[in-house]
This record gives sequence, structure tokens and C-alpha cells, in this order.
Amino acid sequence: MPSCSVLRLCQYETNKLVRIQSVRLGSLKWSLNAAILLFICVMMLWNRKYQEFDLVVSSVTTKLKGVAQIRLPGVGELVWDVVDFSGASQEKNSFFVVTNVIVTKNQKQGRCAEVPSKGRSSCRSDQDCEKGGWDLHSHGIQTGSCVKFDVLKKTCEVSAWCPIETKTNPPRPALLAAAENFTVLIKNNIRFPAFNFIRRNILPGMTADYLKSCNRGNDSLCPIFRLGDVVRSAGEKFSEMAVEGGVIGIQIKWDCNLDPLMHRCLPRYSFRRLDEKESNRTLYPGLNFRFAKYNQVNGVEERTLYKAFGIRFDVMVFGQAGKFSFIQLIVYVGSTLSYYALTTVLIDWLIGTSCYSAEVGQNYSERKVEDVQDQQKVILGVSYVDENNLRLVKRSLKKSLQDVKPMSVLPRQEDPGHLRAVLCLLQPRMDQDQDHKADQNPRPAAPSWCKCDCCVPASLPQEQLCCRRSSGGCISSSPLFDQLVLRRPLLEAVLLYRDPLAPLEDRVRTAALRHCAYQQFISWRFGSPPAGCHPAVPSCCIQRIREEYPSPDGQYRGFRPVRTTITMQGGANGEL
Ligand code: ZN
Ligand code: ZN
Repeated sequence: MPSCSVLRLCQYETNKLVRIQSVRLGSLKWSLNAAILLFICVMMLWNRKYQEFDLVVSSVTTKLKGVAQIRLPGVGELVWDVVDFSGASQEKNSFFVVTNVIVTKNQKQGRCAEVPSKGRSSCRSDQDCEKGGWDLHSHGIQTGSCVKFDVLKKTCEVSAWCPIETKTNPPRPALLAAAENFTVLIKNNIRFPAFNFIRRNILPGMTADYLKSCNRGNDSLCPIFRLGDVVRSAGEKFSEMAVEGGVIGIQIKWDCNLDPLMHRCLPRYSFRRLDEKESNRTLYPGLNFRFAKYNQVNGVEERTLYKAFGIRFDVMVFGQAGKFSFIQLIVYVGSTLSYYALTTVLIDWLIGTSCYSAEVGQNYSERKVEDVQDQQKVILGVSYVDENNLRLVKRSLKKSLQDVKPMSVLPRQEDPGHLRAVLCLLQPRMDQDQDHKADQNPRPAAPSWCKCDCCVPASLPQEQLCCRRSSGGCISSSPLFDQLVLRRPLLEAVLLYRDPLAPLEDRVRTAALRHCAYQQFISWRFGSPPAGCHPAVPSCCIQRIREEYPSPDGQYRGFRPVRTTITMQGGANGEL
């Protein structure tokens, strides 16, 4: 129907709440909410969640300064300045300092004996040498002849820059370790494009005099670094690292707060070694490369070959800047609202556990949770005379009701109105009605599920229920059973109370009295049964009631619980 769906659009559903009046729970709720609010505020201020962020864009230039007097073997005393020390490499955001060197002087194009090495065996005759041959470790192209390398060894002759570099291991201690005292000025310009904010690490207040005299020992913002200090800050020893070289990272972190009240935008420097440290265990450790200086001697080109070991300093810049943003603040506040659900979860859990009063917990869960039974499942209530609690069990079509495991066990809820009415009726005629019918017909033998010895066999599993859990006397033998359940004047009074103009025909009256007797039994044993459950009357009691108020044709409809929510008025407890 179209009108139905239209009507549905005009509806609003909201949750129904349960309010518990409790000082303890109230203070717990507010304490938890206050703790959550505190946490949210601290996290917001600590992580600046109210800000919008932008990443840094930067450029780096470096200026190395220093000069040192050194002694090179085979060359003699030399003064090396920054140009010599910087080697040949100039890369983006990094600078190189030569710390050790192997020098091979006066190399000329010519023929000479190849240097023996691990992978290359020496030769005995010219047959061992292939003309034009070379490999990855060769210094030149083989000429095909086998010549003397030294007194003991012969190697293949090569066309190469001769004499060939013979040293493979760098000198120890490092020849240019004096580079430790060199200084470098790092100039770093940064920009945060989103905020159009520009800054450099040479801050506006720094003068030329300041830069000349500043020292990182007492001023962490000084942009001039002594190389020895940099290496030491990275946890290394300069003299050790100088031998084979390596890579050191200079990290500049910008963490800027651009809000006017909290404005702060200063660089933070940190240092660490970037290459593999264990030179003993690492293949090809350190950092080295070769370069040469060429000159003409008598018209012949000569060169001096340098194998330079050194330290490369990589300057890495990263960081972010934050500025207050109303949208970010709203997004953050929105994302934290769900934390308040923790209070409910925690308090609900606390009430459910034994930490809190069981009575309050039971009351709370009864008010809070409304049970709706599955249409297919019929829940039966069972009350044993030797147990205080009620059991709720699912109806089984195979197992006898006596053997089905309970879904839950509930305390019995007394029905005070019923008790009071019954007591009023009982009072005046307490001793009149003692016509306890001993027994007329011998009963068939009690079935196996019976514990009281009074039940009769039943074909339907839902009717196979005894009044007891363990063996013992039957509830139907109690004098109170006669008085509360069977006594005719009581049942008549109850029926009349319910319907003052009840018909008086005998047949109808007997059936009505029988059903009223079941009702009396249920009120007695179950009190107010939990909603949605069908109280089951034990077989022995049914038998006893039927004997008292028999059907004229001996036919009974049996216990047929219906799958609807029942009200405990009239004889609505199925059909017995
Ligand atoms: Zn029994
Ligand atoms: Zn019994």
C-alpha cells in the first residue's frame, strides 16, 4: 500500500532509556565522563588536533671550512684546504670530506705487470695470458705476455696507466683525520606552501658576529657544525670512521606551530650514521672513490691517482607546521564523541558482574531488556518442589521435559495478591475440608523420568514432567495441595470472583473447576511467571486434578502451549 510507505516516512524512532536512581552509579558515570573529557582535551592539546598541518618544502646548501697540514707517503708535507678535502663530488643536500687517501703518482699510459689479487692467479708462461682479455678487476687490457711482477711472482702484462695502484687497504691511522676540526655551515631554507610561511635556519636575530663565535655546545640553534662533533653525536668515533669512510645523516626537524599565541618555529638537529657500521663483517665497507689530477711532463700526459676514502654528510629536512582550523576542531570533537559510549559499556558490565548488587543487576536487566521469543521456540516454565528457583526450558519434541537442560534459572516472583486472597478464603474453613480421597483406582507403574512415584506415563515429551528433581515425596500428597489446588469451595470462589455470573451447568463447571485448579497450582508454585513462558504442570499434579475433576468422557486435550504472548488470566495456559 502506498499510503503505508508514505506514513513510514513521517515517523521518527528514538531509543527508550532506563534511568537508575543511584548515587553510586551517578557519581561513577560523571567520574568516567570527566576522565574521558580530560583525556580528549589532553590528547587534543598534546597532538594539536585542532590544527591543520602542512609538510615542509626545503632547500639545503652547505659551506665547508678548514685547512690542515698533512703528510702523504711518497708525496711529503702538504697543506690541504677545503677544495682538496671536498673531493670531486658535490651532490644535492650533501657534502663529502676526504679523510684517507691512497696516492699513486706519475702514472703514464704503458705496459706493466698486473697486480696479483685473490681472484686472479699468476701465470707461468705466455700461454696463460690471453691477448685482449680483461675482467672486472683488471687494471688494463692483457697484452698476451707473462712478465715478472716481483722476485717471486709472474703475472700477465697489461696495457694500462702504469705503475698500477698496488695498495688495497686504506692506511691506518687515517692520513687526513685532521678534517675532524673542519666546520660546516648548513643553510636551510624552508617553506610551508599551505600557509605561505618562509623561514631559514639562520634565524633573523643571528648576526655575522654571532655566527663567527657560536658554538653548538651551548647553543643548539647554531647552524655551524664541527665535523668531529657531528660524528660523535651520531655515536661514532671520527678517527675510526675516517679510515674507511661512511655516511652520516644530519637531520633537521621543523615542528612549527603557527598560531599567533603559541608561535614557535625552530629547527631541531639530530645526527645518525646511515651506512653499515660493522666494517669487519660487511663486504665493501665504508665509502671511497677514485679521482686523478693530470699534468704534462715533457709532452707526455701523466696523472696522479687518488683513491679517496671519506665521510659523506647527508642533510635531511623534514617536519610540519600546524595552524588552527575550525573544521579540524569539529572533526576531532566529532570523532571523540563515541568515547562516551565507554561509560555505558563499563557501567552496564559492572552491573552485570557480581561486583555490584545481584538484586539491582537483576532488576536493571529486567527493566532494560525486553525478551521477545523466537516464534519457533516455545519456552516452558518448570518449578520443582525441591528447588527454590524457576527453570526456563525450550520445548523439545524428543526429550522428556524432565530431562531438558534449562536455558536459564530465575528466582521465583511471589504473587502477593494471590496469596492474600487464598489465605482469606482459607481462614474460616480450615478444618472442614479434609475429605482427602485416598485413592480409588490403582495407578499404572511410574515412568522412568518420575522421581515422586505418582506420575503416569505420557506420550508427549512436553507432558513428561515430575514435581521433583530428585527422589522423594510427591507435592500432590501435601495437605496444602488439597487446600490450595483441589478444594471445591476455593475454586468456586475464585471462579465467581473472576466471573460473578458464571454458568452453573455441571459439565461446564467441572471443566472450569479443573482449569481453575491448574491455575491455582501455577499461581502457587510459579507466583507471577516470567513473561512469555508457559508454566508446565507436573504429570502427578495433572493426574491428581483430573481424578478430582474428571472429564465425563475421559478425554483431555493435554498440554498445548501456544506460540503467542500469553497473559496469565483465565485458563490461558494452553489446554490441559
Ligand atoms: Zn513424579
Ligand atoms: Zn509428584
